[in-house]
Amino acid sequence: MTSVKITSCGYCHGELLPAFVREASDIWFGWPGQADYSRCADCGSVVRCEQRGAAEHADGGYYTHDQMPLPARIRTRVALYSARPLVSGVLSKTSRSGSRFFESWMRVSGPAVALPVLGPGAGRSLLDVGCGSGDALKIYRAAGYRTVGLEPDPQAVQGCSGAIVGLLDAVRAGSFDVVTTSHVIEHTPSPLTFVEECWRVLKPGGTLVQIAPNAASPLCDAFGRNWRGLEPLRHVCIPTPRGFESSLRSAGFSDVSVSTLNRADKSLLALSQLRAGDEVVSVPAPPFQSEVLAIARKAPSS
Ligand SMILES: [Zn+2]
Repeated sequence: MTSVKITSCGYCHGELLPAFVREASDIWFGWPGQADYSRCADCGSVVRCEQRGAAEHADGGYYTHDQMPLPARIRTRVALYSARPLVSGVLSKTSRSGSRFFESWMRVSGPAVALPVLGPGAGRSLLDVGCGSGDALKIYRAAGYRTVGLEPDPQAVQGCSGAIVGLLDAVRAGSFDVVTTSHVIEHTPSPLTFVEECWRVLKPGGTLVQIAPNAASPLCDAFGRNWRGLEPLRHVCIPTPRGFESSLRSAGFSDVSVSTLNRADKSLLALSQLRAGDEVVSVPAPPFQSEVLAIARKAPSS
């Protein structure tokens, strides 16, 4: 049986505390294997410290693929919980999986957050890392950016214009004015390396905008293994604002701003409740600060 262990925090290299989630399975996407999760003692980021019985990277067949089979147990819960107003709002766009719709939304909704920060493109070049089916690229293009998408999953980019299949190491240094990532970094086993690569491909004076689930959200502690943001097996290193900031500064970014977003609060609560089922959970008061937004600039002189 394959077993992969991570022994330090991918954001700050801090020590990991004993696992607070053990033998969690991927109830949303049905991938085989089990994972344990622990927190970084320094920055609080949540790290998949051990996984067993699955490929090292279980991201194939992800957000943008059609007809993902859901396990029978969760299908039943979707049917039961669809009658509840909060959950039915999340599920209304799909007949199969509210989680699937939600993840697609997460992936393409980056421009709504990034564009107010970045302003109009005015011909600037933009690399969207983990572009999936490219819906975000279209929005950036409409805002005046010269866009390129990067996506490791060849199936996801079928029919997407302006996307390259590959990883950041294939991109030339200093070639983009802007790099964006939305719900990507939590899938990487080495977030610090990922951020260093983002720094490398930016031009001097360029801007990185990243969005990720927030491991410091009170929903993480309240729901534990059932927290939707945990996404067992697939999420490897989930940042806190502190962890995000630490990695960005270590990577060489000079101007770092990290904040939290509440836009996904209701959806993450509903989907966490869906997963928790009959387990009694005391829900904290909102806002839940479900996502982290990090904006960082590469010094013009670098
Ligand atoms: Zn850490």
